[in-house]
Amino acid sequence: MIDQKTIDRLRTDTITPQSLFIGGRDTPTADGRTLDVVSPIDGKPLTSIADGGAADIDRAVAAARDTFENGDWSRMPPAARKKILHSLADLIERDAAELAVLGVRDNGTEISMAYKAEPLSAAGTFRYYAEAIDKVYGEIAPTGDDVLGMIHREPLGVVGVIVPWNFPMMIGAWKIAPALAAGNSVVLKPPEVASLTLLRLAKLAAEAGLPDGVLNVVTGRGETAGEALGLHMDVDAIAFTGSGAVGRRLLDYAARSNLKRVHLELGGKSPNIVFDDVADIAHAAKVSANGIFRNSGQVCVAGSRLLVQTAIYDRFVDQLLAATATMRIGDPLDLESDIGAVSSEEQLQKNLGFVSRAESEGAKLLVGGERILGDTGGTYMAPTIFDQVTPEMELAREEVFGPVLAVTRFDTEEEAVGLANGTDYGLAAAVWTSDLPTAHRMVRAIRAGVVHVNTYGGADVTVPLGGFKQSGFVRDKSLHALDKYTDLKTAWISLA
Ligand code: NAD
Repeated sequence: MIDQKTIDRLRTDTITPQSLFIGGRDTPTADGRTLDVVSPIDGKPLTSIADGGAADIDRAVAAARDTFENGDWSRMPPAARKKILHSLADLIERDAAELAVLGVRDNGTEISMAYKAEPLSAAGTFRYYAEAIDKVYGEIAPTGDDVLGMIHREPLGVVGVIVPWNFPMMIGAWKIAPALAAGNSVVLKPPEVASLTLLRLAKLAAEAGLPDGVLNVVTGRGETAGEALGLHMDVDAIAFTGSGAVGRRLLDYAARSNLKRVHLELGGKSPNIVFDDVADIAHAAKVSANGIFRNSGQVCVAGSRLLVQTAIYDRFVDQLLAATATMRIGDPLDLESDIGAVSSEEQLQKNLGFVSRAESEGAKLLVGGERILGDTGGTYMAPTIFDQVTPEMELAREEVFGPVLAVTRFDTEEEAVGLANGTDYGLAAAVWTSDLPTAHRMVRAIRAGVVHVNTYGGADVTVPLGGFKQSGFVRDKSLHALDKYTDLKTAWISLA
């Protein structure tokens, strides 16, 4: 575990201006442009990153293509790839404290969560796919005697990875680890407000022995570097996590360029449903508060809609308010903080816009709704709970991606299912009940990629994550993720 003394030692480290990482080397942008990085902890400048553009994406894709074609990585025996990916995991663990503090200074997630969720989770993901890759076999088809039908699994080639800022290392690893394990080369476009840990990750990969050009990082803006990657004619697939709006653009870029595969993991408006037979109201309320407010609600699977059955509604809301009141908001580099900073001023303003529109639509503000800790210079928001949210209100339909909870009551199971499925999203859900048949019926009825029962969150790398409906398609994590980064090839061999 990380301790406060170590955090305090690392929190003022100077961060030198960052270059791109192409072909195993720090590389300036073709036109010398940079972006300032501001810490959400105090609003002060941290460093700068390279503002990569189309020319830089071209260079990175060429490096990735060269190394894919020369076979240094793509044709390396899987057991040898496994060794290097395990070394990478060792190095991430060696530097976990440093990576965690660096990431928190960049994106404001409370370190009590970020330490495990970022470096340690990423290391675990690299180990998982390292271990898996020399245990995945091809197939022999059940044909007639005069032929041999063999099914090979091959890497795709060059994979573009684009990730968001809420958990850049964890989500980055969900894509980079299976892509590399399968033998692909990668061009990574980190989020503009949280690039620093992913740049470090690429350098650790080089230290671990990953050949030059296998993992390239082009920092910069979505509408320039991201678009160039999406439109590139020599990129075989894009693995993306982020908003639906950008997901749509990536599908369009693929249609306008080379029909590359596009794997989308998008947003959610996940229902957290509490039946009146829940075993422990206080516990469920505490987990529900954590399920929406940790990392300031910037969690794709956050339980942002709380649906509570009428008989326990008032008691549950009281317990929820009590649990929320105990959450400590403040310096994300203080181990005692339960909630850190909102990642940027832009995101904070977006959150506050949702609050004012919810009030004008007639939802009742129970707590929060405002910016706090203004004297720090950072971007902090109070956990916010709205009652009397009806299904047609914006707050019941649109993802805030902030610490804002919409509470609605229901009477029957059928009504709960209707409310749960009544949005365009289908990423996650939870059901709280003591009745096993109710739990199983709800798991079947809810259209979401993960349905928690009597808990919220915490699913690990062994199970898939991804959405139904407009929350995306395909899946990160688990062995199923390897399908995204491999192609099947049939060898049809006459034995006559
Ligand atoms: P975003 O879509 O704005 O940005 C995500 C990434 O896309 C960033 O790296 C950004 O630079 C890039 N991008 C932006 N415009 C682009 C363009 N025109 N072309 C190519 N790339 C472009 O999302 P965000 O604000 O960083 O993250 C929040 C969103 O991510 C939320 O909707 C959240 O639910 C979602 N998310 C989903 C999951 C999941 O697993 N399903 C996990 C975390 C976050």
